Amino acid sequence: MEEIVKVVNVTKNFYTKEGEMEDLKNISFTVHEGEILSLLGPSGSGKSTILNILTNLLEPTSGEVSIKGTIGYMFQKDHLLEWRSIMDNITLGLEIMHKKNDKKSMERIERLLKTYGLWEFRNMYPKELSGGMRQRVALIRTLSVDPSILLLDEPFSALDYQTRLMVTEDIFKILKAENITALMVTHDISEAISMSDRV
Ligand code: ADP
Ligand code: MG
Repeated sequence: MEEIVKVVNVTKNFYTKEGEMEDLKNISFTVHEGEILSLLGPSGSGKSTILNILTNLLEPTSGEVSIKGTIGYMFQKDHLLEWRSIMDNITLGLEIMHKKNDKKSMERIERLLKTYGLWEFRNMYPKELSGGMRQRVALIRTLSVDPSILLLDEPFSALDYQTRLMVTEDIFKILKAENITALMVTHDISEAISMSDRV
């Protein structure tokens, strides 16, 4: 299987008023095509930092990272825009990339909405949807631009326990069915186990 993400011996130090602080030390891992990998660690252990390095928001102090293709990013909050309909939220990424008239992308969106039970809701607004459905909308928006890797930063921690169990299973099924390669970071052991091929 092809390696989509490769991280080799990454170290990241931050320099603060109090002096130098080691955030990541000699981190190495790979994510293969079609695999869902979770990195598990307590709050403050540098999980978001590693994702920020992968997206080039931060430079590692030493070490190498490489990513094949484009990145999709899913955050803790769904970041849906309340004044736009579900459909207009989903096509936002395409709009920004000036690809809204791209027939293939629009067909992909239509298929995803129909497959995952959101087609009837496309003209509604985010506040009319449950927390779980909103997360599914956020996922489809991210997948609409067909990224080669999906990065998830504690995507379910804002949801209450019951919803989280349901949504985690729901999202995992979608990722597997669509053969998505993903890297998730979380502090929640059960989330990591139920959402991953490898932790
Ligand atoms: P996690 O996502 O695992 O909770 P983070 O990657 O956000 O952890 O942060 C890890 C540590 O690095 C924390 O102690 C945080 O305070 C520190 N840190 C993160 N970003 C910066 C920064 N830009 N400057 C200084 N310290 C930072
Ligand atoms: Mg974090």
